[in-house]
Amino acid sequence: MKIAIDGPSGAGKSTIAKIIAKNIGYIYIDTGAMYRAVGLFALRNNIRIDNQTDIIPYLDKIDITISYKDDEQQIFLNKENVSSEIRHPEVSKAASDVGTIKAVREKLVCIQRKLAENNNVIMDGRDVGTHILPDAEIKIFLTASAEKRAERRYKELIEKSVSCTFNEVLDDMIKRDKNDTEREFSPLMKASDAVLFDSSDFTLEETVGKITELIKEKINEIN
Ligand code: C5P
Repeated sequence: MKIAIDGPSGAGKSTIAKIIAKNIGYIYIDTGAMYRAVGLFALRNNIRIDNQTDIIPYLDKIDITISYKDDEQQIFLNKENVSSEIRHPEVSKAASDVGTIKAVREKLVCIQRKLAENNNVIMDGRDVGTHILPDAEIKIFLTASAEKRAERRYKELIEKSVSCTFNEVLDDMIKRDKNDTEREFSPLMKASDAVLFDSSDFTLEETVGKITELIKEKINEIN
């Protein structure tokens, strides 16, 4: 069984997918972390990411793997655990930029599809329902207003002691939404068969509850 959760930055996809995966015994796969790892590689190696080609010769030198520690996905860039470093705001921007590059997407989609083979997975991202796993049995498009999403992301970053202001976070979110929805290859889009869920007016617990119900209903329908 494959469950796809897509939506814009800060909609709560990863938090919610992680909790539900644990509750129903599925493997959680965070595809955004892979774009972040490639973005981090580009930043570290001063590779220009505002065009489609400079990163191509490096793609064979970028090894992305994941493992799990206490139910948390850990991401490795060339065997180095970069799970914390990829959360910095400059890496968010780099991830969004490398995500516009077709060759990067092709490489990561290959890894993502392999991970979903032979496993019950909940995968979150931007193009899971439309492109990575178009045959996913359950598709959810989770969204919320830009202000709500920025509020939540700001809180998360402050808790992790990342220095930033609310307006910087909101500004970054709006730019990333634009980048993600307007890019040419696999833009952020609701799959036609996805269920739309707007979490703006719900707490985390309420959203987890409602999405879990939805998933259970679908699983019962399929069985
Ligand atoms: O989900 P997260 O915010 O960690 O993703 C970081 C960036 O990676 C997104 O802004 C998006 O540009 C890119 N991304 C993507 N496709 C995915 C997951 C993430 O393009 N499936």
